[in-house]
Amino acid sequence: MKFATKAIHAGVEPDPTTGAIMTPIYQTSTYVQESPGKHKGYEYARTQNPTRTVLQNNLAALENGNYGICYSSGLGATDAILKLYKPGDEIIASADLYGGTYRIMVRVFQEYGLKFKFVGLDNLANLEAAITPATKMVWIETPTNPLLRLVDIKAVAAITKARNIRLVVDNTFASPYLQNPLDLGADIVVHSVTKYLGGHSDTVMGAVVLNDEETAQRLAFIQNACGAVPGPQDCFLVLRGIKTLHLRMQRHCENALKIAQFLKQHPKVSQVNYPGLEDHPQHELAKEQMRGFGGMVSFTLHGDSLEEAVRVMESFQVFSLGESLGGVESLCTHPASMTHASIPKEEREKNGLKDTLIRLSVGIEDVDDLIEDLKQAIG
Ligand SMILES: *Cc1c(COP(=O)(O)O)cnc(C)c1O
Repeated sequence: MKFATKAIHAGVEPDPTTGAIMTPIYQTSTYVQESPGKHKGYEYARTQNPTRTVLQNNLAALENGNYGICYSSGLGATDAILKLYKPGDEIIASADLYGGTYRIMVRVFQEYGLKFKFVGLDNLANLEAAITPATKMVWIETPTNPLLRLVDIKAVAAITKARNIRLVVDNTFASPYLQNPLDLGADIVVHSVTKYLGGHSDTVMGAVVLNDEETAQRLAFIQNACGAVPGPQDCFLVLRGIKTLHLRMQRHCENALKIAQFLKQHPKVSQVNYPGLEDHPQHELAKEQMRGFGGMVSFTLHGDSLEEAVRVMESFQVFSLGESLGGVESLCTHPASMTHASIPKEEREKNGLKDTLIRLSVGIEDVDDLIEDLKQAIG
């Protein structure tokens, strides 16, 4: 089945009791048993919920994986994956990481004895040099937030596979419409479903998709044992959102490319980060690894004045200033003070994240209005 058909149909069956074409919201905490232990496969809603089951199967299909497991947020999913490890285990993560992922690693799991190394993956020799016999997992994000750099998934997978190290890819920025890490050799894909998959800025959720049965069982065990499950209404909203994922992503990509091109020729703009621009250092890799370049663009202004960047962000009329991304509406973010504030300034600057960087999540509005808004705001 091709992507658009899977987005609408995979895992979704008419409701067996009524024929309802849309998966019902099973808003229930428990299920009646005929006799103790004799039930229809559903006992308690933390453990199983039919709305969630359908969504999990749909997500697995979109990522070409065997198992999908949903959590109450993207970080809930990250938490579950980190709980696969024990004190002393080493995890290598890319230096250019979502702030919350960095925070849960360093401020939560490091306290429990897991060891983390953050490595710049622009050069894979750095990764090879960081690996030790205790290395159990490599965690990457591509494209990265907010600098839109790419990591070569196939090349990293070749290194991890040879050493029996698990490779996790955070695929939030690309969405399964643009990139399928499992097909490129990753072991686990993780999503903040909150972003493009949900797509309408109305739900917080996370998911993992994978092929290995034993790991899937452990992650499902953690889902139930630790309890970070999404509610059925949220599962319904995401199922509904996914039905237009392909259409939304097409427009996100079209609009973002036009905006990146507009910014590129703007005399006040000093740098534009977008993998779809021909002069992006990894444009060729983007063409190979992704089926489109995504909806995220970031840029800096000449002069590197924080005041000027703040003035631009305050002047937007169509772009709203807010955290998050991937919704139908355009958002702008100031990573240094918002999404990446949990990463120390020194660490941020080492990774090339300037305090003056503006990040755009380009929505699916009319691109002419978005460009007009940028024109008037930048001045
Ligand atoms: C938002 C985000 C997360 C965290 O997801 P939540 O749903 O907010 O918990 C993880 N990774 C990336 C790349 C994100 O953008």
